[in-house]
Amino acid sequence: MEKARKLLIAGNWKLNKTVAEALDLVNGLQRELANLKEVDLVVCPPFTALSEVSKAILDSNLRLGAQDMSEHGYGAYTGEIAAGMLKEFSVRYVILGHSERRQYQRETDELIAKKARAAHAASLKPIVCVGETLAEREAGATEKVVGTQLKGSLAGLTAAQVEETVIAYEPVWAIGTGRNATATQAQEVHAFIRGQLAQRADAAVAKRVRILYGGSVKPANARELMSQPDVDGALVGGASLEVRSFADIVKNSI
Ligand code: PEP
Repeated sequence: MEKARKLLIAGNWKLNKTVAEALDLVNGLQRELANLKEVDLVVCPPFTALSEVSKAILDSNLRLGAQDMSEHGYGAYTGEIAAGMLKEFSVRYVILGHSERRQYQRETDELIAKKARAAHAASLKPIVCVGETLAEREAGATEKVVGTQLKGSLAGLTAAQVEETVIAYEPVWAIGTGRNATATQAQEVHAFIRGQLAQRADAAVAKRVRILYGGSVKPANARELMSQPDVDGALVGGASLEVRSFADIVKNSI
């Protein structure tokens, strides 16, 4: 299908995969998806597997992402990882503000914006996640919640940096639940996000930003979701942990 922007499909492995398991997965993905040029492919392993995965995918069409990073460059921040450290492993993308981090680590829009600015300063592309809970959707507050998260999480970025940012719309009620947003629901929110970006930066920038959908993306629903005009790819959790399902999502999306 003809898309306005090149599709980007990223696998968020979360707290899964030893180094050996990570290598099995990327080796399998390279076999399945070798030479595929229509989609930008990104894998986001845990920090502990970045080094080995980075070496394993060196000559492939897979790119590396991290699942989080510190807003600080260095210093007394025990347990944190800086953008510059990720760059040592040729990491290109970093997921920021995933709903699990917003929920369990109490990450705020303000913190996510600091991280996004630090990511850009190191030439890493942030994948900034936004999305409403079920209660918020049922209360008719989806646009208010997503609009507030978007504005807050992109605060302080230049228009050029916004253009180099990837947005992931991930309704919280669809993550890991097997209940995906319908293609219509996804398109509605994606179009809203693009409209907000046009106001925040400008229309030309908004047209170039890739907006991914995330939340129970599977081989069976990928085609319909990806066929929506403002859906420019997917952030995949559970189905990115197996070669077959991730490869089929990619193949069904083109
Ligand atoms: C995610 O956590 O980013 C995600 C989309 O998870 P899942 O695909 O498992 O719903």
